[in-house]
Order: sequence, then structure tokens, then C-alpha cells
Amino acid sequence: MLRRHFLATATIAAAIPAKSILTHEHVLVDFIGADAIRPGRYDPDEVFRLALPKLKELRALGCRRLLECTPNFLGRDPRLLRRLAKAANLEIWTNTGLYGAAEFKFLPAYARTETASQLAQRWIAEARNGVDGERVRFIKTGVNRGPLHPLDRKLVHAAIETAKATGLTMAVHTGDGRAALDQLAILEQSGLPARKWVWVHAQNEPDLEIHERVARAGGWVSLDGVSLRSGAWHLQAVKHLAAKGLLARVLISQDSGWYRVGEPGGGRFNGYTFLYTDFLPRLEPEWRKQLLWDNPKAAF
Ligand SMILES: [Zn+2]
Repeated sequence: MLRRHFLATATIAAAIPAKSILTHEHVLVDFIGADAIRPGRYDPDEVFRLALPKLKELRALGCRRLLECTPNFLGRDPRLLRRLAKAANLEIWTNTGLYGAAEFKFLPAYARTETASQLAQRWIAEARNGVDGERVRFIKTGVNRGPLHPLDRKLVHAAIETAKATGLTMAVHTGDGRAALDQLAILEQSGLPARKWVWVHAQNEPDLEIHERVARAGGWVSLDGVSLRSGAWHLQAVKHLAAKGLLARVLISQDSGWYRVGEPGGGRFNGYTFLYTDFLPRLEPEWRKQLLWDNPKAAF
């Protein structure tokens, strides 16, 4: 476990790259489920008020871009993100796609009946036309643990079709390493280069050999839950890939935020600074810019 507030301010400041990108964070999430989600379940002005200081704090640490990974039917709100981006002077990217993880609780009914191509047509339309006036910059989907369920496989195929048609990168919340390897096999059959695919939540797979296999195949290994509790494990996983010469396939982020719809006052908004103040100083200096700028730019 990493100890908090152990490092001197000067040490922290020296460890922070001039500019950075966080590839997996959230501003708002609504866990009510696809059957019950509807507009008006939160006050966007309240979310704006609570999220803005957290985003400004992040901008002050040099962050220039945050990929907001909340998919449609889980609280994606491009209009709110645009307001916040402007006020915080920070790019906030939104996504297209559907999230099948959590046993399909967040999938609308049409995701079960439509084909992968039909789903892809919806996502391609969002990628081309935008959502609520906001540009869509990446694909975000989610699958359960492997072996992949047919519905999970359908989402992966839809994401691949969308990536091929739009050039966007697909970030896939992935239950475990088995599910990651299943995706890799589908990608290889489809002809989409693995570099257009991000294995989201790779930190949940304890077998570092699977991280290595995915990285060697060209996929992005996203160790995106950096936190007080998990920092040491993330460090170990980064070091393992670095030792194999695969640092150029690694992404780090926090999967943090966020306003929790349905909780009083949005619950506990953790913010986005831990990675900067506690994790970066423990990384090799030459890795910091690569992990927080070069790699995210290359991935997306
Ligand atoms: Zn997430």
C-alpha cells in the first residue's frame, strides 16, 4: 500500500509532467440500470458545481484531457461534460457504445434483439453526427468475465465494426484476462489491429503473463484503477511490462470521480489527484511522460 502525504511537496511537483492525459475517469455515473434510467434523475447544475473544483484541481496539475468513460445508459451526459470542459479549460472526451458488464444490467432491450451490425450502425451514427452537439471521440463498451457470453461477443463485434468505419479506438471494460484473450482472438479474426483496442481494467487480472501476451500482440494494457489501496499492485504491473520492453503498450488512470446519481449530494466525489500526488513520484522519471502523454496520444 502507498502511504499518503508521505512525500514532500517539492518531490511531488518534480514528478508531475508538464502535460498529461487521463484515459479512464468518470464525472457522473447512474447505476440504476437501463430499465429505469431516464432524464431528470439529477440536477445538472448541482453536478456542475461539485465536479468543477475537482476538474480545476486536475487542470492545475497539468492534465489537458480526460476521457470520460461513462457509457450511454449509465449516465453519459455530453452536454454537462461540454459545460465542465469549458469552465475547467480541460478537454473532456465522451464516447459511443454500450456496456454489457454487470450481467447486462445496463443494456437497453434493443441490444439483445439487434445484430452486431445494427448496433454498430447506431454507434457509427453517433460517431459521425455527435451526441447532444458534442463530438464522440472513442468507443466504450464493457464485457463480463470470460469465456465471453454471446451477448458480450456481439458488443465486441459491434465495437470492431464501428472502429473500422470511424477510425476510433475501442476501450472495453473487461471482466478478467480470459475475457481479454477472447477479445484478442476476435480482433485477430476481424483484421482490426490490436492497437485500436484498450483492455480496460487489466489490473483485475492477477496473471501478469496475460498482460504481457496482450501487450505483445499490440493491445493496450490499461491499469486504470490507481488508488490508495491499489497503488503498489499497479506499480508491480507497470514494472513487469517495462522489464519486458513493453512500456509503450501501457496506460494508467484512476477510474475515479464522480457524482453518484441517487446518493444525497452525489455521494463522495473522490476527484482525480491521487495519481499525481502519490503514484507518479514512485515511477521512474522517464516513464511518467510516456505513460501520461505519449501512450494516451498514441492509443486514442
Ligand atoms: Zn470506469
